[in-house]
Amino acid sequence: MKKFIKEFSEFALKGNVVNLAVGIIIGASFQALVNSLTKDIISPVLGLFTSKNFDTLYVDFFGVTISYGAFITNLINFFIMAFVIFVLVKLINKAGEQISPSQPKPEPRKCPYCIQEIDKTATRCHHCTSVLPEPASESAEEPAKAI
Ligand SMILES: [Zn+2]
Repeated sequence: MKKFIKEFSEFALKGNVVNLAVGIIIGASFQALVNSLTKDIISPVLGLFTSKNFDTLYVDFFGVTISYGAFITNLINFFIMAFVIFVLVKLINKAGEQISPSQPKPEPRKCPYCIQEIDKTATRCHHCTSVLPEPASESAEEPAKAI
């Protein structure tokens, strides 16, 4: 039992789980906000044209009630959420790129005799054991300072 509790607390306190929980809570409250926006603002404004709150519109179809107003309200809701999530994902991707810009990998050094990749500081090829010429130093040594 002790082990179980320990495992569970390790799982629950991992960064990913906490982040996920925060995301779900923020998402839920945001969903409520968008619901309120469509239900309390957009739907009444659309209702101006029908002189009725838009999401209460319905048709009687052979005794069956089809509340198309509520459906269209949910549809608007969905599009607002989809748009916001799209913008959010775009922003996150952009931020991620700025933090770690994908740099082009430097060309690997190759042995001139066997054309195998070797370490850039190697003095002898570990594939063919040839003695290698001095590696081309990219950062030239600083010129001696005059004292
Ligand atoms: Zn070699």
